[in-house]
Amino acid sequence: MNPLSQIVRATRPIYRKLSTTPVASSAKPIPTTGMCFELNDEQKALQDLARKFTREEIVPVAAQYDKTGEYPWPIIKKAWEIGLMNGHVPEHCGGMGLGVLESCLICEETAFGCSGIMAAMYITDVGQTPVILAGNKEQQKKYLGRLIEEPIVAAYGVTEPGAGSDVAGIKTRAEKKGDEWILNGQKMWITNGGVANWYFVLARTNPDPKCPASKAFTGFIVEREWPGVTPGRKELNMGQRASDTRGITFEDVRIPKENVLIGEGAGFKIAMGAFDKTRPPVAAGATGLAQRALYEATKYSLERKTFGVPIAHHQAVAFMLADMAVGVETARLAWQKAAWMVDHGQKNTVMASVAKCYASEIANKSASDAVQVFGGNGFNSDYPVEKLMRDAKIYQIYEGTSQIQRLIISREILTAAKQSNA
Ligand SMILES: Cc1cc2nc3c(=O)[nH]c(=O)nc-3n(C[C@H](O)[C@H](O)[C@H](O)COP(=O)(O)OP(=O)(O)OC[C@H]3O[C@@H](n4cnc5c(N)ncnc54)[C@H](O)[C@@H]3O)c2cc1C
Repeated sequence: MNPLSQIVRATRPIYRKLSTTPVASSAKPIPTTGMCFELNDEQKALQDLARKFTREEIVPVAAQYDKTGEYPWPIIKKAWEIGLMNGHVPEHCGGMGLGVLESCLICEETAFGCSGIMAAMYITDVGQTPVILAGNKEQQKKYLGRLIEEPIVAAYGVTEPGAGSDVAGIKTRAEKKGDEWILNGQKMWITNGGVANWYFVLARTNPDPKCPASKAFTGFIVEREWPGVTPGRKELNMGQRASDTRGITFEDVRIPKENVLIGEGAGFKIAMGAFDKTRPPVAAGATGLAQRALYEATKYSLERKTFGVPIAHHQAVAFMLADMAVGVETARLAWQKAAWMVDHGQKNTVMASVAKCYASEIANKSASDAVQVFGGNGFNSDYPVEKLMRDAKIYQIYEGTSQIQRLIISREILTAAKQSNA
């Protein structure tokens, strides 16, 4: 049993007790109803573990992975050993069955160290989420169980060279032949694309262009080692360089019918539904990056002097720190609410978009302001903040761009307004 499992199992009874009966302690008891901003003991332990792991294992090597672009296997393996990976895998597959909020805690902490390494660690969860949401017991046991047995990763394959935001425009197709499906096409920008053991793949299965998206696509589990699966070269990206991003070609790949999720035509809803659970952790990662920007800028502003005083004493600089703190605190509240909602069975699509959109803007603003606080040094790779600025940009693009988040949010506002006028 990994250390985290031990913590989870040891503290869970306390959490259960606290959540029904307040206990006497030196601090005020945690409220059992209404608003509560306190993590439970299990979550605190998880956060501490992730924080310690980040300080000891990620921060010291982040610049090196950024430079080499190597995949951080040694870190993935250590994280897997202590239970910082695959936390949400259900208990019947050997996992811990943790919630989205717990994933968020890990993402925020690890992104503080390096959001590229965080992406390598977390995006496997994105690949797994369709299987958690829509897989049957056998599929879950086989493919999620595999990730618990050894330190391997999964990936989420939806985007293509010709279609990202417009998911319904994807061209990868699968045709049914007897008991199998034959998959042909190309995916692009797949995180963990070259290192994953298996992929969630969305393909068009109804060629009729008039068929609605909700019926035209099917979700498959595709193994990396199957004939006809060919990952492309590792892409050289602006930031998050430790993360492995590739195109993948599928040529006459034979998929057994057992690897269809739910059934023919169910794929679009599965692929889109996953975002309710995956956008809050991505927002938490962006918050972790912003927190790092604030940390580095604060430290530097107390060391660097101009006009005889530390630059922190200039109000223009101090206010940049204040703005970063405003952003970090509010971005955190946003992902916490989005995660809490989905963990409590509430529809969180809009809140997940709010959190993802907002936290990614905050990450970019904070990283840019941190570079400003560092002056000329901020522009140089001997200092940690230019990496933050490069790494931050992708948060406005993957898991749905900031424009797409605004589309989701505005649609909801307008629909509600029209309904209230009707
Ligand atoms: C490093 C990296 C990792 C990624 N990882 C994965 C992964 O693991 N799995 C996966 O499936 N995908 C992944 N992606 C793909 C990512 O999700 C897409 O790049 C993203 O959804 C945008 O799609 P696109 O690149 O095709 O841009 P486009 O859809 O072509 O958009 C181009 C621009 O137009 C804007 N735009 C498009 N449509 C609208 C609209 N209706 N209204 C307003 N503005 C609009 C967009 O916001 C954007 O600014 C990754 C991408 C990168 C770069």
